[in-house]
Amino acid sequence: MTRRLALLGGTFDPPHVGHLIVASEVGGIVDADSGARRFADVVLMVANDPWQKRGVREITPAALRLEMVRAAVAGHPGLIAGDQEIGRGGSTYSIDTVEALVAEGDVECSLVLGADAVAGLDTWHRADELAALVEIVAVQRPGHASPTPSHRWTVRPVDVPAVDVSSTDIRDRCRRGAPIDFLVTDAVRSIIGDRGLYGVRR
Ligand code: ATP
Ligand code: MG
Repeated sequence: MTRRLALLGGTFDPPHVGHLIVASEVGGIVDADSGARRFADVVLMVANDPWQKRGVREITPAALRLEMVRAAVAGHPGLIAGDQEIGRGGSTYSIDTVEALVAEGDVECSLVLGADAVAGLDTWHRADELAALVEIVAVQRPGHASPTPSHRWTVRPVDVPAVDVSSTDIRDRCRRGAPIDFLVTDAVRSIIGDRGLYGVRR
């Protein structure tokens, strides 16, 4: 039987409740015909080197971002931290990840994207080939209009509870000493504090 995976790719610097709520909601999608869950797993795929962010700001080492994602999803069956892009190293292109997963066996991938990411889809590496392989699960994001991507993409819009939080906001909060409680999980908050990430005082 085909194993359907939902990939929520990101930098996760750090992972926050916005990511987790989207992942959990997508994991709960039920197929109308069978009544079974559409996705075997939702993989929070940690980008090794998000090339479109390179030079824009300093990115936390991939191993630490993976550690935070693992901590965030621990104890949530159906949510998995993906380390394949880090394992592969180098610049991160979703097409490579999808091709590798599909090559492993009877796997079908959907890419889960917030509205801001959907807007950039056509700029992605080997966009045509990617579009032929995946369905896009598009979720809304507060502050970002829902764009209509070009016709090559198959898009499935999915409603999620709107949560206006971003990693950028959390990094800013850390820098200025504002609380991040409930915006990230306690385990993620502990890692940020223990490692002194984002200018947090240890
Ligand atoms: P940054 O501010 O550093 O860009 P981010 O909060 O946008 O961080 P990313 O790791 O860039 O997080 O996002 C990964 C994916 O999760 C993207 O598809 C993004 O649209 C989606 N996403 C992130 N936060 C939310 C949110 N609050 N609601 C819906 N989708 C979100
Ligand atoms: Mg982002």
